[in-house]
Amino acid sequence: MLNAKMEAALNKQVNAELWSAYLYLSMSYDMDDKGFCGMASWFAIQAKEEFEHAAKFMEFIGSMDGKVKLMPIDEVRQEWNSPKDAFEDTLLHEKKVTAMIHGLMDLAIELKDYASQSLLKWFVDEQVEEEDTARKYLSALEKIEKDSAALYLFDKALGKRED
Ligand code: MG
Repeated sequence: MLNAKMEAALNKQVNAELWSAYLYLSMSYDMDDKGFCGMASWFAIQAKEEFEHAAKFMEFIGSMDGKVKLMPIDEVRQEWNSPKDAFEDTLLHEKKVTAMIHGLMDLAIELKDYASQSLLKWFVDEQVEEEDTARKYLSALEKIEKDSAALYLFDKALGKRED
């Protein structure tokens, strides 16, 4: 059985993961508008991953005999000045998500909720990867932002991400 406090916190995380999906979908369409098809495709896959994160939390709440509560999703930003701007925002956002996951882990430890700790361990590892990827791409974009040929190749490379 899920503690009521844990159930509420996990439902809040479902909303946060769905918001992340909205954010990356918005980035995907903005990159597409700006002619960066590779990055548009990368962000679309990223959005899909966020929907999967939300699903993972929802399935867990369900299997723990909890109640999934779907709350309204806040509006997301619709435009970024450049790909570098979008990846800056991505890194900033993933750092916030990491802090949220760590907060959930703190609560699960406090409540001696071992099942939630086990689920959250997966998300702790996932966040290490998410931040690392965002940092890597941001650092590349900082180097090439004024070189349109390099930017073209970067966009093409990101377009190769598999679904
Ligand atoms: Mg996520």
